[in-house]
Amino acid sequence: MITLDRVGKTYPGGVQALRDVSLTIEHGEFVGVVGPSGSGKSTMLHLIGALDLPSNGSVTVAGYDLSRLSDRRLSALRGRTIGFVFQQYHLAAGVPALDNVADGLLYAGVGLRERRRRAERALRRVGLEHRTTNRPHQLSGGEKQRVAIARAIVGEPELILADEPTGSLDSRSGAQVLELLLDLNAAGTTVVVITHDREIAAGLPRRVEIRDGQVIS
Ligand code: ADP
Repeated sequence: MITLDRVGKTYPGGVQALRDVSLTIEHGEFVGVVGPSGSGKSTMLHLIGALDLPSNGSVTVAGYDLSRLSDRRLSALRGRTIGFVFQQYHLAAGVPALDNVADGLLYAGVGLRERRRRAERALRRVGLEHRTTNRPHQLSGGEKQRVAIARAIVGEPELILADEPTGSLDSRSGAQVLELLLDLNAAGTTVVVITHDREIAAGLPRRVEIRDGQVIS
């Protein structure tokens, strides 16, 4: 699903966020990325998600060498193959849950009715079919994150990338979100999740530990 081959990332200003990272993640894996703040975890997730390009080495996702794709094809890959989940949910304020989720299909070329139909199904999958008309401020943190997960999966991506998805949640809501990600993984989706939560990390089948921009285990 993902291959990083001797990947380096230097930001403008000279910060070397990743150095010589090589890593393979198979289709169907659930991988936790752990390490101290500033170690390069988000940078790695951004490179895998085609949100940024490496300074050295190559990143291959779903068989595509990302540095060889045009911007248009990178957007298409992000839209069709990858679902993103962030710590701060990134939901549109004032927009009902159903449409927040349906907007995950804006680039899929399907009409509004079909987008909403699929959004309803995704919300059912995360257990929020009774919250379709709620706007983000009318939802708890855990519910917001579940809406964000519904948006991430509404296009049925092969890969979910989650950056601290439980970082703003109490332990019970966090456990629910993790459970949901595990269910999606059991159904075949590859999941890569950055987490600071030791308890969550300890329960994952594979952990990649990063320190100072390098994979140390
Ligand atoms: P983590 O996710 O492990 O906290 P990051 O990948 O966010 O680490 O950051 C790794 C390093 O790169 C840090 O030193 C951070 O300050 C730096 N960094 C991250 N993003 C940028 C950016 N857009 N521009 C410059 N430096 C950055």
